[in-house]
Amino acid sequence: MSDTVFSKILSGEIPIDFLHEDAMCVAFNDISPQAPTHILVIPRHAYRNVAEASEKDPALVGHLMAVCSKLARKHRLENGFRIVTNQGDEGGQSVDHLHFHLLGGRAMQWPPG
Ligand code: AMP
Repeated sequence: MSDTVFSKILSGEIPIDFLHEDAMCVAFNDISPQAPTHILVIPRHAYRNVAEASEKDPALVGHLMAVCSKLARKHRLENGFRIVTNQGDEGGQSVDHLHFHLLGGRAMQWPPG
């Protein structure tokens, strides 16, 4: 597993409360929230980004999306929410371990920055 902050969270080296966990993924609050609800959903396997995971395990990518939707229901985001994944330098990715951002609780802007 690559040595990122998320691998440290998964190993327990960085203690954190999980909002969801199952055999394939975990979810927790983002340390720097960009909306009233800002949850990260990350796979246990350290795929670097969505392109790599989509090629090697597309079912996992579907599962992560389903977990985002389940968390949106649980956090009562019935007025809407946004799911984002950043890839690469131009995509704004800062942690090289696939993650989906679930954002909600405020009106989102478009286009994104
Ligand atoms: P990205 O920039 O798309 O790669 O997203 C990485 C996200 O990880 C950012 O929103 C960070 O705020 C978040 N993050 C970094 N370190 C931690 C941490 N220790 N706990 C929770 N979220 C973190």
